[in-house]
Amino acid sequence: MISRRLFIIGGLSSIILACNRKGSITAATATPAAGGTARISTVRLYSAASKGYIMSDKVIKSPEEWRRQLTPEQFHVAREQGTEMAFTGATWDNHEVGTYQCVCCGNDLYRSEHKYESGTGWPSFWQPIAPENITNRADNSLFSRRTEVLCSRCDAHLGHVFDDGPKPTGLRYCMNSAAMTFVKMP
Ligand SMILES: [Zn+2]
Repeated sequence: MISRRLFIIGGLSSIILACNRKGSITAATATPAAGGTARISTVRLYSAASKGYIMSDKVIKSPEEWRRQLTPEQFHVAREQGTEMAFTGATWDNHEVGTYQCVCCGNDLYRSEHKYESGTGWPSFWQPIAPENITNRADNSLFSRRTEVLCSRCDAHLGHVFDDGPKPTGLRYCMNSAAMTFVKMP
């Protein structure tokens, strides 16, 4: 009787072991696939410097890595969905000709020719440099339905887009200066 119970227990643990082994095999075979996934997460982006579309790997870093690279305000806005105080950012009143890039990864986001005076105190644009360069995501925080705008290359939080902008798009991309770097271009 005892030996039979031991046999049953032994049999059960074999099954458990088999399951575990199966799980680990799955994980092991998934490793090359994970490498493949990294390749799949290549994104097609417009490059102002190249004056055309390029393929680029997504930029994925840990919060610690971002914290080392960014100032505390840049980190708070871009990696923690923060919002800078209106009329305090570096570029809300900037009228120079150039390109606004992601402060985290350098992805081109907006052109100065699409910037306009929204009166909000945040740099505002009526369209991005290319639709592919930004990503929209539903944001239901703060008891309101808004559309968050992120960098397509590194998922940095940039700001929000609203439908009260000027023609021709009727959109207002309300950005944070802290999430962008302005680069002068002739
Ligand atoms: Zn980025």
